[in-house]
Amino acid sequence: MFVVYCAVCDRRTLLGVDEVEWVENLTRGVISVSGHCPRGHDVVLLTGDAFTPHEDPRYFGPAPRIWTKPMNKLRAWLRGHFEVSRDLPGPFYRF
Ligand SMILES: [Zn+2]
Repeated sequence: MFVVYCAVCDRRTLLGVDEVEWVENLTRGVISVSGHCPRGHDVVLLTGDAFTPHEDPRYFGPAPRIWTKPMNKLRAWLRGHFEVSRDLPGPFYRF
């Protein structure tokens, strides 16, 4: 069953599998399904694998440990040598 939009009626309707008139592979991952709305107007629906969301192929997961380990060591070294004091200096205290 498909949800199709009829531009003439300006409404969406359900298109049953038995009401599908034509199915065509337009290109890789794009399928065209055509039929008629309840009032008889032509409706076309594009579907297929190209319209389904997939995981981003550019994301390769978290950075490998061989990259993060030197940065963590550097961060620990900087923290040890340049300790940050989060206490306010005396003049800034009101009480
Ligand atoms: Zn219609």
